[in-house]
Amino acid sequence: MININIGIDIGGNHVGIGVVDDSGEIIKKKIIDYNRDTITPTDIFKIINTFLNENKGVDIETIGIGIPGISTETHIDYTCNLPLTDVEIYDYVKTRVPIYVSNDANCATIAEYEVIDKKFYSNYALVTVGTGIGAGLILNGQLYSGTTGSAGEIGHMVIEKDGLPCRCGRRGCFEQYASVSALKRLTETDELEEIFYLSERNMSIQNVLGEYIKNLSVGMSNIINMYDVEVLVIGGSLAQYGDKFLSKLKSLIMSNIYNQYTYDLNIKTAKLRK
Ligand SMILES: [Zn+2]
Repeated sequence: MININIGIDIGGNHVGIGVVDDSGEIIKKKIIDYNRDTITPTDIFKIINTFLNENKGVDIETIGIGIPGISTETHIDYTCNLPLTDVEIYDYVKTRVPIYVSNDANCATIAEYEVIDKKFYSNYALVTVGTGIGAGLILNGQLYSGTTGSAGEIGHMVIEKDGLPCRCGRRGCFEQYASVSALKRLTETDELEEIFYLSERNMSIQNVLGEYIKNLSVGMSNIINMYDVEVLVIGGSLAQYGDKFLSKLKSLIMSNIYNQYTYDLNIKTAKLRK
């Protein structure tokens, strides 16, 4: 018998739901966009409950949910980019199927590492650059999630003292300068595709993008200095434009890190995407 599982990504601007078979193949998927400033927990889980109702006849073994924040078992402890702080999943999702909740960047890291990279690396960082910035760390072949599950929250590493205010309540956080939301704000353009298209034709957009890549390199250099990983993988919505910025990002990181003597940065984009 084939085992069917459901993977759900509750993101900053959308819910993505995938029905997955034994081999990891997505056999059905649905993505619903929303506005994070007006969405409520009830609205978010209504999307999920509607999908589960539509697929009532399917024998689902487990449901995995990735959230942009910190969780304990099926309880979402804290998210700063969505109104999901102190939310018990079973209060909203009406099912008897076992549910597992975890940080979205950790979910992305486990998937990419297990399916693509495990054979090659044991010290590994995957950084998701999207609405915010998150990271998952594999150290000595194991996911490192810290004491409370909040390790890898590099989006909230301060790179500018007294800098821009962040949704987490502090100032100068990395994601205020280097997330896709920041890039859209800096270029005053809503679509990533348009930003990269314009950057090849418009000097001022090209300059803004250049500064943005520098911002990105500051946080990435800190990760290398901290963990000395064998490979840095970029995930999230920025990843699909990797060929437009990876080599520049790599040279900026290399000129910024402590060990420029024996460290050779291996940087690439994630293969598993939506
Ligand atoms: Zn922050």
